[in-house]
Amino acid sequence: MKTIIEPFRIKSVEPLRITTRAQREAALKAAGHNLFRLRSDDVLIDLLTDSGTGAMSSLQWAAVMRGDESYAGSPSYYRFEEAVQSIFGHEFVIPTHQGRAAERILFAGLKPGQIIPSNAHFDTTRANIEAQGASALDIGIPESRIPSRVHPFKGNMDTTALERLIHEHGRDAIPMVMVTVTCNTAGGQPVSMANLRAVRAVCDRHGVPFYIDACRFAENSFFIRKREEGYAARTPLEIAREMFSLADGATMSAKKDGLANIGGFITTNDAARAAEMRNLLILTEGFSTYGGMAGRDLEAIAQGLAEVLDEDYLTYRIRSVQYVGEHLAAGGVPIVQPPGGHAIYLDARAMLPHIPPHQLPGQALACELYLHGGIRSCEIGSLMFGKPDGRGGEIPAAMELVRLAIPRRVYTQSHMDYVCEVIAETAARAAEIRGLRITAQPPSLRHFTAALAPV
Ligand SMILES: *Cc1c(COP(=O)(O)O)cnc(C)c1O
Repeated sequence: MKTIIEPFRIKSVEPLRITTRAQREAALKAAGHNLFRLRSDDVLIDLLTDSGTGAMSSLQWAAVMRGDESYAGSPSYYRFEEAVQSIFGHEFVIPTHQGRAAERILFAGLKPGQIIPSNAHFDTTRANIEAQGASALDIGIPESRIPSRVHPFKGNMDTTALERLIHEHGRDAIPMVMVTVTCNTAGGQPVSMANLRAVRAVCDRHGVPFYIDACRFAENSFFIRKREEGYAARTPLEIAREMFSLADGATMSAKKDGLANIGGFITTNDAARAAEMRNLLILTEGFSTYGGMAGRDLEAIAQGLAEVLDEDYLTYRIRSVQYVGEHLAAGGVPIVQPPGGHAIYLDARAMLPHIPPHQLPGQALACELYLHGGIRSCEIGSLMFGKPDGRGGEIPAAMELVRLAIPRRVYTQSHMDYVCEVIAETAARAAEIRGLRITAQPPSLRHFTAALAPV
């Protein structure tokens, strides 16, 4: 059959609240034109993020009931640990309440002047590195910076640039190399096994530890199976194990491919580092057999990790995101090509060439999609990544994108058809859309809380 169906049926439903344009105008104004500040019941289709927004399965809800809330040594922890180890294969597992807590603990002790290279850091990863005074450096392959360029593994790291970086700055300046799979910042693009192997080889030559930001490891495994020679007959689980076998450890947000609503963890083979990290964990997250999660969360993740590598699930997941991308592209909407694993990224710079970067074309487009159809998306452009240039102006981000992140197992195809229609209608009157300016902003991660106004 050509039609790929959702490989589940719906057991419990949550009504959507339909609003008028006038209601949405008032809500957007009250939110300072920042979609993070909207109340979610003022949103019809919420594509702000795929993080923690997925639907759990009946088996996950059943596992929740089994959650054992003992402070120390809970059986829920041991089920969680076993589920993680069976995929990641690393010796030590450290539970955290979500991905950024894993990052904060992994990066504790970084020093000013040190550099953490990545294919492209996620925003919280970058912020946690910079909070220690170190630098977060993106060295994706050149293709990753050209939205229209098709490449099967557009999330790959530029290993020549990595080699050069280590030569220039010396091994001590590079405490670890990180690769994000799939690469969220570059458009949810996969990283090939060959590239992971090449990164490993560079790290081995210089004795630098290699960690994977593993948030979407299952989606990445599926892309490797589909696109990389030699993997067509391998299961997503086998591919995931091979990926992790190339790294010394990983950070994970279970809110993505953990299919859970909260949670995260660190894995590592480094015993000394694991001991240090556990001490930090106890200081701020919790004891080492729960780390900021409830026993029921540990259970939901253990079950989620088993489900996320299911081939029918992954086929549906990747295909349903592609479906949105293909519809938009066929209608002439510029998107990052090819479609990523968890999201479609609209190229706001191409759609709104009349809005200069400092007037935040991505945010302007995201606000318009909300006003027109109640869709909440997320700007990934100069609001998120713009930097002061030291002369009162700003260095814009490399790309002005709007991310439509698709929550896992939540929306049906007709919801997505509606989304495509809203975007097509918005694109048709793009010339009328106006830019925005920032009226208030915090010192870091400004996109979460900044207030804006139309220019
Ligand atoms: C979500 C995400 C994180 C951070 O995880 P949280 O659970 O949101 O704290 C880190 N890296 C990537 C690639 C992510 O997508």
